[in-house]
Amino acid sequence: MSDEGTIFDKIISKEIPADVIYEDDFVLGFKDINPQAPVHVLFIPKVRISTHNDINTDNVDYVAKMHLAINDYVKEIGEAENGYRVVMNCNENGQQTVYHIHMHLLAGRMMNWPPG
Ligand code: AMP
Repeated sequence: MSDEGTIFDKIISKEIPADVIYEDDFVLGFKDINPQAPVHVLFIPKVRISTHNDINTDNVDYVAKMHLAINDYVKEIGEAENGYRVVMNCNENGQQTVYHIHMHLLAGRMMNWPPG
């Protein structure tokens, strides 16, 4: 895997704009540019973790904070009780396209199962 940053590093550093809906010292949340649901937000850690395979005991706190940020946000927008989906795609078969982990929060409509 290349050590070059991804577009999400540039969003973290504000080099490129994003519609940010959540930010703390560890996590950034912003609207997906190609939404697949009425609510489609990406939550990312403010450190480079390329894929789900790279989550380890040193960086797992970032992942926990991503989940907590999602919990706060779904309460804030009134979707917690309706329900929602949290997805992380990994590598080729998972259809990952940006190699900086991100949780997709999808909400605001009935989801389908199984996913495609
Ligand atoms: P994945 O396929 O799981 O790697 O998801 C990457 C997601 O990033 C896709 O849903 C894209 O629409 C989204 N995306 C890519 N570039 C941007 C951007 N500049 N701002 C917001 N979302 C983006």
